[in-house]
This record gives sequence, structure tokens and C-alpha cells, in this order.
Amino acid sequence: MHTYATPYHIAREQQPELPTYCFRPERVTAAASWFVEKFPAQPFYAVKVNPAPHVLDALWEGGIRSFDAASEKEIELIRGRFPDARIAFLHPVKPRRAIERAYKQHGVRIFVTDSMAELHKILDATDFAKDLTILVRIAVSNEGSALPLSGKFGASAAEAAELLSVARRYADELGVSFHVGSQAMKPSAWAQAMADASRVIIDAGVTVDIVDVGGGFPAIYADKNPPAMDDYVAMVMRSFENMFVLENADLWCEPGRALVAEAESLLVGVDLAKDNAIYINEGSYGALYDAVHENWVFPMRAISGDGRKLGRMVEYTVYGPTCDSADMLPGKVWLPAGLTEGDYIEIGNIGAYGRSMATRFNGFGESDVAIVQDSPWPSLYGSAEGAEVISIGSMATN
Ligand SMILES: *Cc1c(COP(=O)(O)O)cnc(C)c1O
Repeated sequence: MHTYATPYHIAREQQPELPTYCFRPERVTAAASWFVEKFPAQPFYAVKVNPAPHVLDALWEGGIRSFDAASEKEIELIRGRFPDARIAFLHPVKPRRAIERAYKQHGVRIFVTDSMAELHKILDATDFAKDLTILVRIAVSNEGSALPLSGKFGASAAEAAELLSVARRYADELGVSFHVGSQAMKPSAWAQAMADASRVIIDAGVTVDIVDVGGGFPAIYADKNPPAMDDYVAMVMRSFENMFVLENADLWCEPGRALVAEAESLLVGVDLAKDNAIYINEGSYGALYDAVHENWVFPMRAISGDGRKLGRMVEYTVYGPTCDSADMLPGKVWLPAGLTEGDYIEIGNIGAYGRSMATRFNGFGESDVAIVQDSPWPSLYGSAEGAEVISIGSMATN
């Protein structure tokens, strides 16, 4: 992988034809070290958020040793790369044979369930192994999350209590888990969820070895400025103290977005400028899924392809590359006047759910990657050079 001082250097020296991820390894290690050093919970990185090998390696470098896999492919990816990693299979609905191979071939011991049928499946597929860690996923409120996840998974309080009491008979270690929703903007979501989990444990009348507070920790975007990460830790720790668990119970978490959002930006090329519209080579079927479908505003900056100074900001319509007319950024986007074919736009903090959402629709979806050494985008982990990009940058209106 090539290293450049900044994305400006990539644009001017390479004029890349493909969308190019600008990888900032020190942003990953900063986030990883923060979780390892400042958050007294064992972090399991949610692999689906960005499974690129260079990102995984930077996380390992930053001290992440545990991984949350959603599928057998993710388990194989992690086991192949890190033979000593601790892997948890945390999709609430798993194919039976995937559970069997996870246990027998890949050394996975940690499984989640939110139903009695899945619990029986896990026990059957592992031949009632004596060394299982079973987490019971509880449904909790997703209020205050930008991307709620409560519609699909999580046992009700009554179901969860029954699951805990049955699982206690078979599990070596037993835990509760939940997910407050992705990009949770309020630390209080954890206070509520952990109080709910505590009540379930009391109803079940069992001892619990692990409290897994899930994912949902935020990143910073042009339109989303969450509270400091320290506020989340303080809320989780205070709530943990109030829970009905053994004094030596373990605390786990499953951060995805918070660990890797700042890992990568994306340098996209302008293929055509027409009136007040530009056509770029990345869109809603690529890394800009959340920008289009969830109306999220990513920080952006324009980079001229030929080094000329760019002008004052004006409003553009920005179209993606596919033939689908829905493939455009919502609203207007502020970018410098006079953008033209051969110029570039850098989209910041797209390391979470960017590359992992990209499809091959219309034959697009290929990308390149290079390491860059600047850090211009806003950060939740200090030491970014500053947030000036947002103010000169490009907020979509409405
Ligand atoms: C997606 C997912 C995560 C990560 O969520 P973020 O909001 O990205 O932190 C964690 N745990 C589970 C079970 C998930 O499905």
C-alpha cells in the first residue's frame, strides 16, 4: 500500500480513476487504544462494520484482541488473520452447521441467543459442550439512536428471564447483552438498558458472569456531534455498579462504528460537471449508502485535480455513478464554484459501514486504498488537526 502525505498528493500525482480510500492507521490505533485504556470493558470489534484487512491489522496493533462475528465468513477471516483472537458469534440467528463448525473447527466458544429455539440449536450443534459462554440478548429501547436496531432482535423481559434460567444449566459462563441502536447520541441509553437488564436478571433468579453492553458508540459527522466518549464510559460504569450481578462479573462491549469511522475517508472523482450538478464515481450503491438512504451528512472537502485555487462555496446537486435516479445525495451540497471533470471530493469519516455496504450494481464498486498522513477530519479521540474542514466544507442543506 502506498503512503502519501495527504489526499491532495494522491489526486495530483495519481489522478486515480477508482474511488480511493485514504487510510489513516493512527486514527484506528487512537480509537482502539482509547477503548483498551479508558473503557474498563473488554472490546469485541464488530467485524461487519469494516472488514478490510488493513483496518483489522490496525485494530490489532491498537490492542483489540476480541472480535464479534456475524457469520461464518467473518469467523474464518478473523481466525485466518489472528490465530489467537477471541471470537464471539453474536448474530442472534445462526445456521446450525455454521455453529457446529464455529465450535469444532474455529475454536469459537461464545454464542448469543434471543430465543429458546436458537438456544437449543446452539446446544445441539455443539453436542452440549461444557465450555460454552452463552449471552442472552435482551430487547432494549433504541430511543436516541440514529439507526435503531430494535425491530429485529432481542428477547422480551419475560422470554429473556426464562432463557437465562435454562441457559444457566448448560453454560459455563452466562451473560446478558443488548444493542441500544447504532450511533446512539445519548449516553443515558445505556443507563436505561442496563437497568432493564438488571431487572431481567433478578426475575430469572440466576447469577450472571458477563454484562455485554453491545455497540452503538458514536462517531462524529458533519450533522452529528455526539457527547464526549468519556461521558459514555462514565454512564456505563455508573450503571454497572447498580446492576444485580456478581462483584467480579465481567464487562464487555461490541464497538464497531466508534472504532473505525475515522479510519478512512474516500477520495471520489468528478466525472462530469453540468450546470450546478456534479457526477461523482461513488454513490448510494457504494460507500454513500447512509448519506443517501439515512440522510446523513458526511464532512467533505473539494480537491482540484490540477492544483488551481478553488473559489467560493456554491450549492450543487451531487449524483452517484449508477443509472438509478435515486443515486444522488439528498438536498444541495455546498462545494467550491467551478468544479469540473478531473477534480476530486474527499468524504471524511466514512470508515464505518462505508466499504462494507458497497455493491457491484452497474459494474461499479471497485476501489483503491492508500495510506495518508494528515488528519483533517473531526475526531472523538483528540489530536486531529482541527475541524476547520466542516466550516469551509460542505453541509447538505435540508
Ligand atoms: C452491528 C453490531 C455491532 C456494532 O454496532 P455499532 O453501532 O457499529 O457500534 C455490535 N454488536 C452487534 C451484535 C451488531 O450487530
